[in-house]
Amino acid sequence: MTNLEELARARGWSDEEARLRNAICEIGRLCYARNYIVGADGNISVRMTDDTLLITPAGAMKGFLVPEQIAHIDLSGKVVDNGPGASTELGIHMVCYEQRRDMCAVLHCHPPHAVALTLAGIDMQIPVIPEIIVTIGGIPTAPFGTPGTHELADSIKNIVSCSDTVVMQNHGSVTLGKNLLDAYKKLDMLEHTARILWIANCVGTVKPLAPEAVQKLLGTRAQLGIRTLNTLENQCGRGGGSR
Ligand SMILES: [Zn+2]
Repeated sequence: MTNLEELARARGWSDEEARLRNAICEIGRLCYARNYIVGADGNISVRMTDDTLLITPAGAMKGFLVPEQIAHIDLSGKVVDNGPGASTELGIHMVCYEQRRDMCAVLHCHPPHAVALTLAGIDMQIPVIPEIIVTIGGIPTAPFGTPGTHELADSIKNIVSCSDTVVMQNHGSVTLGKNLLDAYKKLDMLEHTARILWIANCVGTVKPLAPEAVQKLLGTRAQLGIRTLNTLENQCGRGGGSR
């Protein structure tokens, strides 16, 4: 029996709960190692099959978590197991799950290049990278909301209803996934795109791909079997916003 299996038995966790508690810790370590969070930044959650949530606790360093530190709450935010309380940014996660029944994982981080672009007023919706154009389309920016208040959840509500990724002005990122790895993949893509845009803006003027080239790329989605929400198709964050 592994240590995780022994811990799960001692705590009364299901196989799913034990696996996902461990996965949250692994994603936290990865986000910390990749500099997507520092200190006690960020929060990570998953929705389990019984519609309860596992979410990182308030104040902890997400790069050094162990499975028993993860909070287990219901959809009203109430702790269901006498364990630790949820992140103070619970509202961000709740609004994502309310808006998107199709998503089961939410990551909130502070990736430095993406945040820096919001400070400089550089729009991450510009169509420049083929892999982004055919998958998520672009990355909308939400207006500033004060952390720790309902403003923050309100600021992303409309965007997460029609986009799997968003950067919050002067703050950080939110990525939604079918599972934790899917949400992490989108965070990786978001920050990688931000790094490319940052470098390009340092050395020259960034020009979007021609509309015909963008349409051609979007046309490959069907043949590649890509069914993700795409902000170029649904105009999310561009004055549109329907799914
Ligand atoms: Zn934050």
